Amino acid sequence: MISFISRNNTNKKPINAKLYMQEKYYNMVDLICRKRDGGHLSGNEIRWMITDYINGKIPDYQMSALLMAIVLRGMNKEETTFLTKSMIASGDSIDLSDISGIKVDKHSTGGVGDKISLILAPVVAAAGVVVPMMSGRGLGHTGGTLDKLEAIPGFKTDLSISDFKKILKKIGFAMIGQTDKIVPADRKLYSLRDVSGTVPSIPLICSSIISKKKAEGTDALVMDVKVGSGAFMKDREKAATLAHTLVELGSELNIKTAAVLTNMDEPLGYAVGNWLETREAVKVLKGEGPDDILRIVVALGSTMLMLGGKTDNRKEAEEIIRELINSGKGYNKFLQMVDMQGGNSSVFEKPEHYPFIGNKITVKSPDSGYIKSINALKTGILSVELGAGRKKIEDKIDFGAGIEFFKKRGDTVKENEPIAAIYTQKKNSDIFVEHLLDCISFSDSAVTDQELIYKFINC
Ligand code: URA
Repeated sequence: MISFISRNNTNKKPINAKLYMQEKYYNMVDLICRKRDGGHLSGNEIRWMITDYINGKIPDYQMSALLMAIVLRGMNKEETTFLTKSMIASGDSIDLSDISGIKVDKHSTGGVGDKISLILAPVVAAAGVVVPMMSGRGLGHTGGTLDKLEAIPGFKTDLSISDFKKILKKIGFAMIGQTDKIVPADRKLYSLRDVSGTVPSIPLICSSIISKKKAEGTDALVMDVKVGSGAFMKDREKAATLAHTLVELGSELNIKTAAVLTNMDEPLGYAVGNWLETREAVKVLKGEGPDDILRIVVALGSTMLMLGGKTDNRKEAEEIIRELINSGKGYNKFLQMVDMQGGNSSVFEKPEHYPFIGNKITVKSPDSGYIKSINALKTGILSVELGAGRKKIEDKIDFGAGIEFFKKRGDTVKENEPIAAIYTQKKNSDIFVEHLLDCISFSDSAVTDQELIYKFINC
């Protein structure tokens, strides 16, 4: 067998670069070995690999090995840009130039209880900024906006591009998934990363997000970069690097990108799990939501209004966002979108009639005192176990599964007082209760507040 790169070689360059450039000599094992040993991949190699992977010529086991090598060894700026461009080229791109105004989207790097997009998109659209939102599914222990939307009976996220544009023109925002035609490479890679431990990598996260945003045709983007136990980036320094890389890669592709670093040590709000979170998002839209969610909506929403040219004054932008929630205008926009995307919005009037809810297990406090913390990572893992996320690509989501906390960090509790409810169709209720109690730590003394919004970058 002819091999142009030694499998144990840390030499970064192909031995016969000219021959190597010919497509017939590309070899996935060589690419894996080179990346494993800290080498670099060329633009042609990356383009070949993405094309052959989506055409089924490279098997998942080889792609998983390469992804793991990228997680461990990283990619430089050129490789990350080539990867992003190759992913965009794997499918269609949407041209939104016939819709007037600056189009602004938001994306989160992934958290637990993160239902922010469901609130933010309609509120920002109600302010007159067009929001072409293309979201993802749950990944690892984190939830995904698409799964939360699909928890609404009848709701369709796989709209054709022409329907997506029709809705955008009519109501100023729409919320869709990638479809088969838009960045199919990310669709396939995302599912593989989800089940192969290859999510937490700056180049993979950045190329995944920016490729989708470029293909959907947005002009500007605000990133909610999560930091903490429930985020893919556990410390602020790594999260800041991720945020700066996103801003740089966005501008490389002509997307004006800003980022906000936010705390993900605790789940956001009280609900974790698809339907439970959609219901909580609606509460926020009705002006009844928890303060942590509201503060993040205001921070990201005001940034979107500034990116969209509505104002350059942060205070004014924040006021607009608050007013659109308090007046119910954001909620009305949300209902319009649900109806236009085939969903049954009457479930929000009578949430108790929701069709998918499983068994409810109430969890009581073992002690009296204060809630010291609720670990977001453990909560996210439990919610996957309950059926709210996927462990394997083919797993089906149980939309009703999840956790509803009755208490949050800093609250007082009495022994035997209900602190949470678990919803699941699975049988292991004792283990789930034990696992839930392991997510919560208690204290005898009062607990200080935690910072929620750490930093604004490029905004
Ligand atoms: N969100 C995405 O769209 N992709 C990632 O890789 C992580 C979060």
